[in-house]
Amino acid sequence: MRHVVEFSGPILTGPETIRHGLWSVDGVLTFTKPVEDAAQVLPGWVMPGFVDAHCHLGLGPSGAVSQDEAESQARTDRDAGTLLVRDAGSPLDTRRYLRGFAAEVEPDQLVDTVRQQARDGDGWVKLVGDWIDRDAGDLAPSFPAAVVRDAIAAAHDEGARVTAHCFATETLDQMLDADIDCIEHATGLQSRHLPRFVEQGVPIVPTLINIATFPEIAAAAEAKFPRYAAHMRSLWEGRTERVRAAFDAGVQIFAGTDAGSVIRHGRIAEEILALHAAGLPITAAWTRQPGLPGNGWEQAGCARGSGPTSWSVPKIPGWCRRPSPGWHMWCWQGLSYAEQRAE
Ligand SMILES: [Zn+2]
Repeated sequence: MRHVVEFSGPILTGPETIRHGLWSVDGVLTFTKPVEDAAQVLPGWVMPGFVDAHCHLGLGPSGAVSQDEAESQARTDRDAGTLLVRDAGSPLDTRRYLRGFAAEVEPDQLVDTVRQQARDGDGWVKLVGDWIDRDAGDLAPSFPAAVVRDAIAAAHDEGARVTAHCFATETLDQMLDADIDCIEHATGLQSRHLPRFVEQGVPIVPTLINIATFPEIAAAAEAKFPRYAAHMRSLWEGRTERVRAAFDAGVQIFAGTDAGSVIRHGRIAEEILALHAAGLPITAAWTRQPGLPGNGWEQAGCARGSGPTSWSVPKIPGWCRRPSPGWHMWCWQGLSYAEQRAE
């Protein structure tokens, strides 16, 4: 006898379309009601899986973790609804960055290292564009502008794209000048940058749940680096306005958690809600995925049970009205699944 699971809640098949009636028959999803009774009935909303555009699988608070731990991080993300991650796990930097997190190179080694990572990687190289310069006591670009330009050109030459961790304003100018492909955090965003992001087609991954930790970073740095602390606080203060301004200007914004170092895995729904709280319509916070079509998961074969797909679709009315910890996310057969739990 076939094993049947029934999904009795609304099924999101597009940003604004809802169907009812979805079944799993021996693990294959179908919209056709099977003859057998369901062994299990799952209420709640069903939607395609999320993409976490900034996620570090294999990194823990003090650097690399074991293979088992990396796998458990991936499972945690999956169980929280993420079915595709863009791994931001091999950042490049000078010795200013945290130990164990990056290939730490001096400026004269950057171009060669980026070229090598472009060859070794799967299409992306990440630069750490700025970090605290302890001599200056403030954020500062990690590399001279000319070196960044050459390094990005080298990656492009190898067919790879480049993204960069950027907190400070001047780092954004440097990266845009160098023809960067994506920016992480972008906390230094100014209105002068907006048309450049749009014209150059450079998306931003704001990682708002990470930016939320800036006050703690500032407090820890206050005694030794007061200028840096004040800088971090001012970047934190502008976080939601900036995201909203970028969205209004037409900049592409993707949800990414920065899980793996200080941010724990499995928080993609929180990041989506943070983007929504910053002013993005829930459909935008949810559906914008790097380099992927925005919807159409039925066409993607999900309903035929061909495994995980990477589309994210809005909108859970309950979430729109009242984002609440009472909603629990999980993932089943390539679908994200939201269930309202009694507190
Ligand atoms: Zn990161």
